[in-house]
Amino acid sequence: MLKYCTRCVMPDTKPDLKLDEQGVCNACRAYEGRKEVDWDARRKELPALLDKYRSRSGSNWDCIVPVSGGKDSTFQVIRMLQLGLNPLCVTATTCDLSEIGRRNITNLKNLGVDYVEFSPNPVVRRKLNRIGLQQVGDISWPEHVGIFTIPVRAAVQYNVPLLVWGENSQNEYGGPAAAAENNVLDRRWLEEFGGLLGLRVSDLIGLEGITAKDLIPYTYPSDEELRRVGVTGLFLGYYLPWDGYANALIAQASGFETLAHTVEGSVVNYENVDNHQTGIHDYFKFLKFGFGRATDIACLHLRRGRITRQDAQDMVRRHDGKFPWRYLDKPIEKILAPLEMTVDEFVKICDRFTNKKIFLKDAKGNLVKDKQGNLTKLNYDNPG
Ligand SMILES: [Zn+2]
Repeated sequence: MLKYCTRCVMPDTKPDLKLDEQGVCNACRAYEGRKEVDWDARRKELPALLDKYRSRSGSNWDCIVPVSGGKDSTFQVIRMLQLGLNPLCVTATTCDLSEIGRRNITNLKNLGVDYVEFSPNPVVRRKLNRIGLQQVGDISWPEHVGIFTIPVRAAVQYNVPLLVWGENSQNEYGGPAAAAENNVLDRRWLEEFGGLLGLRVSDLIGLEGITAKDLIPYTYPSDEELRRVGVTGLFLGYYLPWDGYANALIAQASGFETLAHTVEGSVVNYENVDNHQTGIHDYFKFLKFGFGRATDIACLHLRRGRITRQDAQDMVRRHDGKFPWRYLDKPIEKILAPLEMTVDEFVKICDRFTNKKIFLKDAKGNLVKDKQGNLTKLNYDNPG
């Protein structure tokens, strides 16, 4: 049976999430801890810190900002420009970029920055999507590795030491205390939290004809290269109190586009609008752990006092974990086609990764699905 945080609606099946004696999760505790932070002091620390890395001669960029074109990266770029920095923005192209995602990238460039987009070999990428889905139940495995490795490679390539990341996901979403309070992202962070799920990049060599040279974009630079350039990174969320919704408002005022409807499986229209595969990624989280994107979003708003716990429960019940027939208006057949996978094959993989303990089964122990292929979470109506 799932146990839920008594304050938000996150179940304890979430990896790295711990409930304390009061039944409160570490993400809620981390958020509570923000009240104790002297944000004015941290805000003042930031310009001085950035100044240390500013290109004195003006002959190189001051920092690298990894960007997707989403609300958070648009916000990051706005803040860097406000602080008078000259960033080089670097995008690792998503697996299946949506039209609105492309427009938001164009908008980000037009904020007035130099910009590099790195697009890994799509033939290899599709193999990695398939392997990720089949072996660890994560279609987005290569994307989640590449968004960390590619900007770091760019830092080495362009000889720009400072990487300015956004929020430390371990703080916002719950993780080990040391990682949540960390304000830098290094190789250790990547290997532990960067979404590798036990499938290491080196494990892929030999699978489906993949060779080491196919994996360059997914490989962290060597320690020697990192030392030579002096690569270091900071999480902006350590210095500025992070709020995705506020970031969305700020981004929208600078031309960031939202979807005309809420994102499928989510409850908002302003995030995860750039990759058609994200619906599958989020669905697998539901199958494995019993919560999806709606839960994540509901918790963020609940912690910030914008909705009640009852509202959050209602949102989750209505939107979480629906079979991902479409995502950003693209039907699943078309999303799976580049992976050379049919919906039937996909469903078999889903069943293999479904945590049978948390979903309704028939007398024979088979998963019960409705006509739309949706599962029923066992204690859906009784969270907490
Ligand atoms: Zn909580």
